[in-house]
Amino acid sequence: MYQKIVVLTGAGISAESGLRTFRDQNGLWEDHHIEDVATPEGYMRNPELVESFYNDRWRQLQVPEVKPNAAHEALAKLEQAFAGDFLLVTQNVDNLHERAGNHKLLHMHGELSKGRCPRSGQIFRLHEPFGPDNCCTCCIPAQRLRPHIVWFGEIPIGMDRIHDALEECDLFIAIGTSGTVYPAAGFVDIANHHGALSVEVNLTPKERHSLFHLHYEGKASEIMPSLVDKILSGSLFTK
Ligand SMILES: [Zn+2]
Repeated sequence: MYQKIVVLTGAGISAESGLRTFRDQNGLWEDHHIEDVATPEGYMRNPELVESFYNDRWRQLQVPEVKPNAAHEALAKLEQAFAGDFLLVTQNVDNLHERAGNHKLLHMHGELSKGRCPRSGQIFRLHEPFGPDNCCTCCIPAQRLRPHIVWFGEIPIGMDRIHDALEECDLFIAIGTSGTVYPAAGFVDIANHHGALSVEVNLTPKERHSLFHLHYEGKASEIMPSLVDKILSGSLFTK
């Protein structure tokens, strides 16, 4: 039986819930240039454009068809039923994991449903889309909240906690993630180096595929329910 599990999820698990992958093949994010909507400089140049970009993403989360799928639900079951340490690290900025019932969850790239005071760093839950009236309550004068999103050139959230968990875990599972974007792409190296069993769940083999001990190819929503049952029953082995 495993004692400490770290799970990493990426865009693939959200795509199965109808959320379009944020970044497409030609480097555009939903028809915008990355430097315009996903950098601090882009936000300084045109905060309205950036706010409207994230507001559109945020509104997608309110659509009834966009809901947690069987993979999200399996991970919530794993967290609830697993007696050891558990940490779910997601690269996704949507709220599907928490809606499925996960609490031991770290959004390393931020969250669409939150804004952040640019001065104090305090985080606020958004009850309405971004706009000039969406301000912090921690400063005088109140500051306009910025999206609580990690942009290019910014450091992902919770890296110390993630590193500690990876060094201690005995099972690492990466789901729906390309394995090419650092620092997340390096998580498997850390887990392997400290003796964990590493498992990959992806639609198709990825570039760093060979680093994982076990591979599951197919939809996460079809693979994860039985994989979680295997983990919980103590029957997941390397061979
Ligand atoms: Zn403030």
